[in-house]
Amino acid sequence: MCEKKSDLTTNPSHFENQNKTKDTPTHMDLQWNDYKDKIKGFKFFDPHIHMVSRTTDDYQNMAQAGIVAVIEPAFWVGQPRTGLSSFKDYYSSLVGWERFRSSQFGIKHYCTIGLNSREANNERLAEEVMEILPLYIYKEGVVGVGEIGFDDQTELEEKYYRLQLELAKEAKLPVQIHTPHRDKKRGTERSMSIAIEHGLDPSWVIVDHNNEETVKSVLDQGFYAAFTIYPFTKMGNKRMVSIVEQYGAERIMINSSADWGISDPLAIPKTAALMVNRGIPHDVIRKVTYENAIEAFAKSGQIQVSDFESSTPSDPNEKFHGNSVLRGGQLPKWNQNSLYID
Ligand SMILES: [Zn+2]
Repeated sequence: MCEKKSDLTTNPSHFENQNKTKDTPTHMDLQWNDYKDKIKGFKFFDPHIHMVSRTTDDYQNMAQAGIVAVIEPAFWVGQPRTGLSSFKDYYSSLVGWERFRSSQFGIKHYCTIGLNSREANNERLAEEVMEILPLYIYKEGVVGVGEIGFDDQTELEEKYYRLQLELAKEAKLPVQIHTPHRDKKRGTERSMSIAIEHGLDPSWVIVDHNNEETVKSVLDQGFYAAFTIYPFTKMGNKRMVSIVEQYGAERIMINSSADWGISDPLAIPKTAALMVNRGIPHDVIRKVTYENAIEAFAKSGQIQVSDFESSTPSDPNEKFHGNSVLRGGQLPKWNQNSLYID
């Protein structure tokens, strides 16, 4: 970097490039801008992202990068909830306000509803939550029970995991399993064997947050294997490309799990671009970034591909209970023809 700068100031013939240099993005941005071209025309489906924690900038960038639909699993919010009303409001936002917010950016929003593993450890509250879950899982746009499973692998986690598997069976909904960060291999195996014990068809179960250690067993047993691409932790996208090279595309899907922590809502398009670069066939990329997630969650009967396959512009004047996302009918920034004033 420094070398280049001194070169520019000492060599006058480079002055005409100086303005260009000033506007040149950082190394990382340059790569992404370069990769963006490689995924032109691709459509992406992110089957795990916590949009309640994200901004409208994220929605704009996601739409621009080709993300046409998302699934938002119910999870914990970073600190324990203190009462049932917090759960009610959260579930309501997943089937209501967030769904509307997403639609304003042309992205179809689905969700999975469940009691997360962490808060399953508060037995009093967990009992109350179990009672209200049936009020939400049958709502429009709910494509599964999730994300449920193990965190610390406690007895209470197991109790509510089992109860929710029964609930999913009864409602004929797919199950989205969160596997633990600690002792992952054991937690993943335990989650799968309990699901089988309850008579669930593995092709109705999406096991999430896989890595190199768990993927083979998950696929061998007939489950879907989802992978979360996280900066610094979980799975990086270079490792993900290697997994697809090794295992192919069958029953594998990629997600961002972007939430309130360091995470990247563009993880899927970026990984797809990396795959294009590595020469992975386009039909394989489409499977792991779009088709497989649809195939798995459409079993809910809630996903109509025609809803997002061809994008219809959202009505910027639309309101949700009197509230607007686009504030006075502004069009999202990414619309090239918009009258957006910034
Ligand atoms: Zn999550």
